Amino acid sequence: MPLSKQFIQDTLHQVELPSGGDLVSSGALAWVAASDTAANLRIHLPGEPDERAMKNLAALIDTTIRAEAGAQNIPIDHLGVQFVSHAGDILASFGDAHAPAPPANADQGSGIPGVKRIIAVGAGKGGVGKSTVAVNLAAALARAGQSVGLLDADIYGPSLPTLLGLDSLEQTILDGQLQPFLVHGFKAVTLGKMVDPDKPLIWRGPMAHGAFKQLYERTRWGELDTLIIDLPPGTGDVPLTMSQSLRLTGAVIVCTPQKVAQDDAVRAVKMFEQLGVEVLGVVENMSCFVGDDGKTYDIFGRGGAEQMAQRLALPFLGAIPINTTLRANSDAGDPTRNFDPATAGGDALPAALNTVARNTESQIALASLRHSGATPTLSIN
Ligand code: ADP
Repeated sequence: MPLSKQFIQDTLHQVELPSGGDLVSSGALAWVAASDTAANLRIHLPGEPDERAMKNLAALIDTTIRAEAGAQNIPIDHLGVQFVSHAGDILASFGDAHAPAPPANADQGSGIPGVKRIIAVGAGKGGVGKSTVAVNLAAALARAGQSVGLLDADIYGPSLPTLLGLDSLEQTILDGQLQPFLVHGFKAVTLGKMVDPDKPLIWRGPMAHGAFKQLYERTRWGELDTLIIDLPPGTGDVPLTMSQSLRLTGAVIVCTPQKVAQDDAVRAVKMFEQLGVEVLGVVENMSCFVGDDGKTYDIFGRGGAEQMAQRLALPFLGAIPINTTLRANSDAGDPTRNFDPATAGGDALPAALNTVARNTESQIALASLRHSGATPTLSIN
């Protein structure tokens, strides 16, 4: 039997807290994620717990879960316990000794052979242009000379077949492996090419987990500098599976300027933080509209996502205006047209998309550096 969230929750009822009640019914068990033989949990204790109290409780949790798992023949490879503050900040981490060896360099250990680094593109809300940003980020990085892959993990509503113009292409499978489509200078895989486009895709948790896993595991990616994962909107099963099975360099959040979109984006940011995925920054999409008269119209407002990024102390990666040419090129499945001023309605759109890509690249480089533990050196002559 694999390790499950239910098993962890049931078992932790046995752990009594010094302040009264058990770990689960007291609400101290803030979050659990389990898959196959690995589990991570977050504990939130009231007040300001000291280092020793956290260490003792982590040891008790570890012993209790391992004893119960042993009795039920459930193998455990990794059990991580983290203590978080009320705001979700990590106070202490335990159990890393049991984790799979961390990569010496994040570039060498994405979790997919041949893939140097993985970034996710997420949004709190659907329809904010998350897939559009993911596609154009892939195209821009590929145009800058990188070898790029794009995985459509929006398994509930895959939109890459339309955005990349895959309708007339057939999915090829060789030796049981999916051959990614090579389009617009990068490789792409989407469930949208394997299911009936008119049927609703309804996945329960374990099925969503399996569908996503198959997409990245069974694809012949070859050598990639960057794999971009286009996540489903919101905070569901796919990000959880992703964060447990792959080592991400970070996540990009797409948000429109309105308050409601920002609120959901903040939740997405918190989710990534809880999953241990660094947020590389925020992109404001549909930021304003420049009419044929040359005037700028703030249809959804402007700058809201940038302010949100500032509030959360996250890098702002750039703004993409509402642009009818971008919409038309997306509907036509031809993102390449967004990068040539002749087919992009001028310089503004390519400039905006390239700025987002350049800023994202810089944040990826910084994050890779941080993950590798290397410190930049500055020499002054
Ligand atoms: P999501 O992935 O967040 O659900 P999509 O990327 O599928 O959103 O975009 C939803 C729709 O909005 C698409 O038709 C897309 O072409 C359009 N769109 C996205 N960003 C822009 C933009 N900046 N200007 C004009 N249309 C846009």
